[in-house]
Amino acid sequence: MKIGITGGIGSGKSTVTDYIIKRGYQVFDADKIAHEIEEPGGGVLLKLASVFGPEILAEDGSLDRKTMAAVVFSDDKKRKILNDITHREIHAIITEGLSHPETDPVFTDVPLLFESGFNKELDRVWLVTASEETRVKRVVARDGGTPEEVRARIRSQMSDEEKEKMADAVISNDCALEELYEKVDRLLDEANGKINK
Ligand code: ATP
Repeated sequence: MKIGITGGIGSGKSTVTDYIIKRGYQVFDADKIAHEIEEPGGGVLLKLASVFGPEILAEDGSLDRKTMAAVVFSDDKKRKILNDITHREIHAIITEGLSHPETDPVFTDVPLLFESGFNKELDRVWLVTASEETRVKRVVARDGGTPEEVRARIRSQMSDEEKEKMADAVISNDCALEELYEKVDRLLDEANGKINK
């Protein structure tokens, strides 16, 4: 069974997936893969260099993020091309990984799961949610920045109400960590057929 974990900024996706890894399950993390494909030798870099020019590569052959950001800055068309190329690569890596799972269930943590349509490739989606107030507090404590900045980022994303309609399970994370882990344990038991829904 392939299960996707998603949720908006600061909802607690990483906290949930870290726990799932601790419970012994395999997780393909889209953010981690996004960083890995920028390392030297990644096939996607050749494609980016052929589209945007060799100057987007650093001397060691990795992606020169500053130059890449400057190239797409204020050019929505180029940004879309960049996103299309990288998202396609990330999804291809996750799809390949999920087709050779080391555990059952196997998981993938994808921030923009519904927006990208990748949910269609999965058997189930678990959505992590928390109130805007909780998320703002946690993200400001984690990253710094102002509550207003975090609120603006949250509001630029698809709403939890919309995502809940498409999710198979909602993990509400307005609670202490112990309670969050109990909720995940219960879902894992369900997924393993130990208890009925
Ligand atoms: P992003 O989308 O920004 O990457 P995320 O959805 O992965 O965020 P996390 O990083 O897991 O969210 O959680 C945000 C912050 O809140 C982290 O610092 C995390 O340690 C903390 N946190 C998450 N859940 C809880 C909880 N139940 N109680 C206390 N702190 C929590």
